[in-house]
Amino acid sequence: MSVLVTGGAGYIGSHTTYALVDRGEDVVVLDNLSTGTRALVSEKAAFVEGEAGDEALVRRVIAAHGVDAVIHFAGSIVVPESVAKPLAYYANNTVASRSLMEACVESGVRHFIFSSTATVYDENARQPLREDEPKNPISPYARSKLMTEWMLEDAARAHDFKPMVLRYFNVAGADPKGRTGQSSPRATHLIKRAAQAALGRVPHLDIFGTDYPTPDGTGVRDYIHVSDLAEAHLLALDALRAGAGPTAYNCGYGHGASVREVIATVEQVLGRKLPVREGPRRPGDPPTLISDPTRIKTVLKWQPRHDDLTEIVRSALEWERRFNA
Ligand code: UDP
Repeated sequence: MSVLVTGGAGYIGSHTTYALVDRGEDVVVLDNLSTGTRALVSEKAAFVEGEAGDEALVRRVIAAHGVDAVIHFAGSIVVPESVAKPLAYYANNTVASRSLMEACVESGVRHFIFSSTATVYDENARQPLREDEPKNPISPYARSKLMTEWMLEDAARAHDFKPMVLRYFNVAGADPKGRTGQSSPRATHLIKRAAQAALGRVPHLDIFGTDYPTPDGTGVRDYIHVSDLAEAHLLALDALRAGAGPTAYNCGYGHGASVREVIATVEQVLGRKLPVREGPRRPGDPPTLISDPTRIKTVLKWQPRHDDLTEIVRSALEWERRFNA
């Protein structure tokens, strides 16, 4: 019995791989290394370089490793890039996921956990967001994810196939043991950019919009520590193996922080001011995104252990120092 982790050389995939091997699971990582880093994959996991959408390869990996569950992280995640290259995003996310599902269904792998996003919800949905709020993704990235959710639902109805969907809010921070962290040089996420600005790797941090209808005018997000997110995948896996049915779960803490609050936390951890530049809104950014985590807490018994912005920021800064050293 082993777990196939696609995209296991990426940010969330590498953390989840460590969480799996730490509790003694056999893991095989499949990653094409287009954005992932081989060195971030635990040495205790087997590694296959290749495409998650290569059906024949996936069937071989499933057979060779006795795979009983797939955790599917592989995909493209840069929203503006998805606007410029929608067809590439549908190919890499939606089409590849379809092939992966087909390989699973044909090989009798029933347990499937899929990385989705909080951006599938309608911008006007009620917040904190519950899983059954209306969906209306705007970007090709978010649409590619919702399409995959729909394929999973349909496949679950037609086949002996049990998918679980995890909708991530704003994932940040790094492995407390320092083994892996956010390593993409192109990452555009706030806490990553703030860490880069703190270490002088970018000249300043931009604040995208100061006129939002939020308490301090900047965007509010539900930042979740990547280790708590990795743990959510383990609980989803346990639930599937115990016979749970297909469900979608929000992964967030249920409270938010503004851009200015994140900056203040970074400055507090650093003990000095960050170089900050206020600018216009970034197109497509909603004012607020906050999760209602009731379902994952009640059904999967998820208990976050790192729900603390200071800890998130500190671990992100530590990783940034280490990674670039
Ligand atoms: N943001 C910012 N400066 C940056 C990156 C992000 O002000 O360099 C803001 C962004 O407008 C949003 C929040 O920080 O309000 C979180 O953005 P991020 O890109 O981290 O995640 P998203 O919510 O877009 O997935």
